[in-house]
Amino acid sequence: MERESMELDVLFVGAGPANLSGALHLANLVKQHNGAIERGDKPGNRLGEIEIAIIEKGASLGAHILSGAVMDPRALGELVPNFIAAGAPIESPVIEDFFLYLTERHAIRSPITPPPLKNHGYYIISLNRLTAWLGEKCEAAGVNIFPEFPGADLLYDEHDRVIGVRTGDKGVDRDGRHKSNFEPGVDLQAKVTVLGEGPRGSLTKSLVQRLNLDAGREPQVYSIGVKELWELPDDRYPAGRVTHTLGFPSDANTYGGGWIYGLQNRILNIGYVTGLDYQDPLIDPHAEFQRFKTHPFVARLLQGGKMIRYGAKTIAAGGLFAMPRIYADGVLLVGDGAGFLNSQRLKGIHAAIKSGMLAAETIFEALLKNEFSSRQLERYEQLVKESWIIPELRKVRNFHAGFKYGRWLGLVNTGLQFVTGGRAWGVFDRVKSEAGHEMMKPLSSYGYHGDNLEQRYDGLRFDGKTTFNKLTDVYHAAVGHDEDQPPHLHVLDPHICATRCREEYGNPCQRFCPAAVYEMVESGDGGHKLQINFSNCVHCKTCDIMDPYQIINWVTPEGGGGPDYKGM
Ligand code: SF4
Repeated sequence: MERESMELDVLFVGAGPANLSGALHLANLVKQHNGAIERGDKPGNRLGEIEIAIIEKGASLGAHILSGAVMDPRALGELVPNFIAAGAPIESPVIEDFFLYLTERHAIRSPITPPPLKNHGYYIISLNRLTAWLGEKCEAAGVNIFPEFPGADLLYDEHDRVIGVRTGDKGVDRDGRHKSNFEPGVDLQAKVTVLGEGPRGSLTKSLVQRLNLDAGREPQVYSIGVKELWELPDDRYPAGRVTHTLGFPSDANTYGGGWIYGLQNRILNIGYVTGLDYQDPLIDPHAEFQRFKTHPFVARLLQGGKMIRYGAKTIAAGGLFAMPRIYADGVLLVGDGAGFLNSQRLKGIHAAIKSGMLAAETIFEALLKNEFSSRQLERYEQLVKESWIIPELRKVRNFHAGFKYGRWLGLVNTGLQFVTGGRAWGVFDRVKSEAGHEMMKPLSSYGYHGDNLEQRYDGLRFDGKTTFNKLTDVYHAAVGHDEDQPPHLHVLDPHICATRCREEYGNPCQRFCPAAVYEMVESGDGGHKLQINFSNCVHCKTCDIMDPYQIINWVTPEGGGGPDYKGM
């Protein structure tokens, strides 16, 4: 098949905050450099026209971007010093912080807000809107942005150096045949490729495996955040109020907590995080969130309101020791895909922006030297170490690992690391972690069997007012995929689903997917088979992460498919 090929200088994959910041910073650095040379302020040569492009699988900028989000403005202030005057879309400065412990009936307010959850000086934002705004700035700086172009494969040369990305084909039917609108993907060749795909990016995953970039690191662990926006009938929850909760409905062995943020125009942003290293195979993160809303304190807040938007996304929570090597020949990793998130503060936007900027500074030096080898790009790791990112992550390096023995010991560990600068249990520099899917226990260890798999959420009813089933929620994520295309969820051995997985774990994909994509249906021969409703997929990547046999491989669907997280 004939493929078009295009040569670029720098290719950013994924239009999230890290890559948009990186592209913008790089365009500015090149412009400043060329200007200084032209004015005679600096010796050396102009860099000439540097082709910088960003490809994005979503239909528009921000369509697949979902976050809480309370943003620490530190990095945005470095990228755009006057960001408020420059029109950055800010919902509200944080005006007050609450931290609540929820029992089944009561909400106990902590007399002090734990320091990591103090948000004074920060801003509540819609990351979808901030992303679109950064995209406008990039375009004004001469960066080319191509929505609806998923990165399907990395291109390597014969020495395993990354030389670009092949974008996904368009117009392929469900059986792999070319439709009348077929267009082959394009080979985008670049001197440097920057992967900013967010948590568990498909290209990042294949790169890390192929080049062993995680050798000697702890396995990355994840959480999933499930979120809704609500329109409230009155001013009961002011813009700028931030509440975080611990306790109900998570059990003491499961990492989890809630958030409630007040936005402008009586919009409430509410969500729940569940650690994707839970043990009980019956856990359903969407159901955990629905149950959170039935708590009397939360239900009162929502009474008379209307749910208007839904979304779900994973969060890379492993921290410093779970970060893979962030550079290789011709390639850099930025943002959540590289694991820069501070899970104790539940904040990653600031580090994502900063990592993009440091990647840009690395690439700028590489362009000046016309040298893009791993030895040159190692400079990125050095810049990251010298920046404020690593000191911040070092202080919380054992935070998530401390929760593997449950909530209470996790909190003790959090307190001890606070006074010892990050040591686990106040003593150890580093503790071992397990991959999240390895933590799931079989049905038998809980005494569950095939006909009582609903029991964990027995009392939970989806009333269509406060609580919603997955399909109703998915409708509010405005998900769209052309149904006549090959499913983008590759189950490598479907036989396991109907046999071992059914017996051992009761097909947990039906529960951990927040979009009702996986369904076990009767196979007609007295057994069951897996049905994949891929068009519901909100691209959260939970299945790729949490499948106990690691046989689900999420790949990019045709460009433009997926959720539309407008305003989220
Ligand atoms: Fe998330 Fe996988 Fe479900 Fe898609 S299929 S919504 S990626 S869990």
